[in-house]
Amino acid sequence: MGQASTSSAARRSSATRTGSSTASTPLAVSRLRPAYQQVADQLRELILNGSLTSGDRLPPEADLGGNFGVSRSTVREALRVLASQGLVKTVRGTTGGTFVADVEPDQVSDYLETSIGLMSGSDALTLGDILEAREMLEVRAAGLAAKRREPRHVEALRAAIEREKHSRGRSVKFREHRHFHGIIIEATGNGLLTVMTEPVFRVLQSQFLSPGVPPEFWVQVDHEHETIVDRIDAGDSEGASEAMQAHLSRIRDAYHNV
Ligand SMILES: [Zn+2]
Repeated sequence: MGQASTSSAARRSSATRTGSSTASTPLAVSRLRPAYQQVADQLRELILNGSLTSGDRLPPEADLGGNFGVSRSTVREALRVLASQGLVKTVRGTTGGTFVADVEPDQVSDYLETSIGLMSGSDALTLGDILEAREMLEVRAAGLAAKRREPRHVEALRAAIEREKHSRGRSVKFREHRHFHGIIIEATGNGLLTVMTEPVFRVLQSQFLSPGVPPEFWVQVDHEHETIVDRIDAGDSEGASEAMQAHLSRIRDAYHNV
């Protein structure tokens, strides 16, 4: 697969590049796409492959039109598409122009939350899928956290447990619960994991948290969290993963399809 896409990429010149998803398709879908979409696709590819990076100024519309062999209005339409996807932004004034946008992790998380939220509950993305993906990420993450945690992470985790014990109400309880899990992800030192897991936590809370969770459930959660932190604090990677697996398996009951 990697081999095939590399060779097909080599056959394409940069001027006719239309995006990797259509590269090996015998039917040339790109011919059916409007010109502005093709321009947007090519600019997007330059951004995604790192040829253009955050803050880079794009050439003026007239120059881009000349490069692509399309009109200025086609270029403008393409830039509108990219702007709507948050990939470029236009700044007015003498020092203005169109720039490759900075992407903040929060923006990505918000976008993912919206997308996962819209898909969730349908056949495309069931509650079981979300819980399964969460376990795949978090069980390994707990093990990594045990290896990489700094003292501040352990302190923050213990403080979060104390707050959980004293909080009241379903949504507050859950927020503290989410926060606890977020610190473990943070302790891995892997920023992408934070971006990927935070929206999942939020969708689980907003869409699937069962209304009838009994108080004993939260007492048990506190207990399990303590075990997880003890293992992380001890640098026991395997133990932390096991404790997280046991915890996540048990709390599955707190979620259901609404
Ligand atoms: Zn938990």
